[in-house]
Amino acid sequence: MHTILSNALAMYIVLAASTLFMEKLMQSSPFAGASLRPRGGTYAHPSWLAPYLSGNSRCHKALHARANFYFSKDSIPESWATEHERGVQSLASFYESQGRLVTLEQQNSFKTASPTGVSLSGQMDLVVGETSDQPATIADVKTGKPRPSHRAQVLLYMALAPHLPEFRNITKPPSGVIYYSSTNEIVEIPAEEANSQFKQQVADLLCIAVGESPQTTPSMQDCRFCVFRDCCPDVVLAETSAVTVDWL
Ligand code: SF4
Repeated sequence: MHTILSNALAMYIVLAASTLFMEKLMQSSPFAGASLRPRGGTYAHPSWLAPYLSGNSRCHKALHARANFYFSKDSIPESWATEHERGVQSLASFYESQGRLVTLEQQNSFKTASPTGVSLSGQMDLVVGETSDQPATIADVKTGKPRPSHRAQVLLYMALAPHLPEFRNITKPPSGVIYYSSTNEIVEIPAEEANSQFKQQVADLLCIAVGESPQTTPSMQDCRFCVFRDCCPDVVLAETSAVTVDWL
């Protein structure tokens, strides 16, 4: 009797687990007809949030879809990686020549989560250590043209670093730097910019990422760089022609 009950219970647990698994797999795709594999949980990479934080992107549907469904990564061209690496090394040499302690890329990996359950991970290109009289500096190397999202990405790192166990040596609010390697330009970001208003913007975006799938807000600016442009039915790839107003 006892064995029969145990077997029935085991069978029930297996059935319940497989039903949950199937439900997860069948979770509706954010775009009808597109088969996108759901993630195990909501995840956001800092570079996905940056265009929204800088006001460059507005379509929250794309952010939500990326945060909750896998999308095959675009491969990074080797030439970009080499140029980026050169930029990181030359910036590191600059700080080291001033007697500062520098950590690079993989040494600056971090993993965290929001109270709403969104995972966030990444790595900062370069962290210049704090000294008794100078705060740490968080630097990002860019090989292309300046964009407002670059500043937002560094600001996000600046806002996170003092709260991450991986950077326990950072006790003062860090400043930021963007280094444009092709022009040798350095943009400095004061520590005060990673303020509570900025942090609230980040928290609001993460709430959107973990909430219900929002409506699309198509625009050429968003759609032409959107990773879902080939499967989104609302994609806009050309300006609509202006309507003529008779009395003009
Ligand atoms: S293609 Fe355009 S409308 Fe569709 S999700 Fe992307 S940004 Fe939004």
